[in-house]
Amino acid sequence: MGQLDRAVSIYDRSGVVEELENDLREYHGVEHAVLTSSGTAALYSMYAACGIGPGDEVIAPAYTFFATVTPLLHVGAVPVLADCDATGNLDPDDVTRRITPNTKALIVTHMWGLPADMPGLQAVADDHGLILLEDGSHAHGASINGQRAGTFGHAAAFSMNGPKPLSAGEGGFILTDDTEVYYRALLHGQYNKRCRNEIPREHPLYRYAVTGTGLKHRIHPLAASLARDQLANLDGYLDGRARVARYLCDQLSDLAGITVPNVPAGVRPSWYGLTLRYRADELGGLPIQRFYDALHAEGCRELDRPGSTCPLNLLPLFQQPEPLLPAYADALAYGPGEFPQAEAVHATILKLPVWHREEDMPLVDSYIEAFRKISDRYRDL
Ligand SMILES: *Cc1c(COP(=O)(O)O)cnc(C)c1O
Repeated sequence: MGQLDRAVSIYDRSGVVEELENDLREYHGVEHAVLTSSGTAALYSMYAACGIGPGDEVIAPAYTFFATVTPLLHVGAVPVLADCDATGNLDPDDVTRRITPNTKALIVTHMWGLPADMPGLQAVADDHGLILLEDGSHAHGASINGQRAGTFGHAAAFSMNGPKPLSAGEGGFILTDDTEVYYRALLHGQYNKRCRNEIPREHPLYRYAVTGTGLKHRIHPLAASLARDQLANLDGYLDGRARVARYLCDQLSDLAGITVPNVPAGVRPSWYGLTLRYRADELGGLPIQRFYDALHAEGCRELDRPGSTCPLNLLPLFQQPEPLLPAYADALAYGPGEFPQAEAVHATILKLPVWHREEDMPLVDSYIEAFRKISDRYRDL
């Protein structure tokens, strides 16, 4: 309500936009943050700002939400998909196999909030001179040995869409320590006033400040206000989720039919989702859908089999892009079966939300009870 009195449009880096960007910089310990209208827009501006364009190949996870990759199709670059390991995150060895002389960058998603193998991926990027980029959209506040997701690469993009660990309703942001990337991100989607104020007059790109590239990706001030409030509570939410996730994993680990995630020492997930792997072989070959339907019938309505977040080679846009993106007719022609790990993860994943409040515990216990019942009595199905 306070924000409505102050401003419903913010054209420069002021007000709640400035406050939230400063909070994000401080939270992550980075030089620059740029708020955007969505995570998709943040990724789009990040790629453009890093100089990724026609002729460039960018290695990207086959298993991610498609918007990690689709903005590359709008800067003229070619996404080269790579497989994941059993955790669902990019496999550094498969990345290495897909490097060519045209590879310019590597984009990493921390799937469902579990940080990817950043030391391994950083080593691959360093060895081959690739720009390392992160899509932190599942992983706000996640860390490896205290280093936060979004601070490993040259730049990072995050979504703040509805259910993400940090939410603005709709919104996103870019993080970088590189001032050139910052200026170019502004020119990509924050034109006129903000560019005129932020880019030094003597900078060679200053003369484009009025138009930038002509795109507009500014965040809504009300969305920024929501996110600022959320950010102040984020670490508290994550502590609560870590407790609930540990409890769920303890309670579910001995059940036949599912495997709980293994979190390496020093890794702190955001627990955007708790991903269980279904093991049909432990339940007499019972199909996953039957197991899932039985849990829904027990009332586990928030148990999810992720659908649109699937291996990208299974999506028509990555198989036959020509009706929508004729320029990609030759460059994108993926098909089923090309990413065995990603497809196996997708086919066997069962995702639970991770609650964070003490008052959620009775609900958590009723989920555990339902899992136990279905696992113990699967023969009755
Ligand atoms: C949600 C999401 C996006 C897209 O963000 P929007 O804010 O919905 O545009 C991109 N990448 C990943 C991994 C996401 O989960």
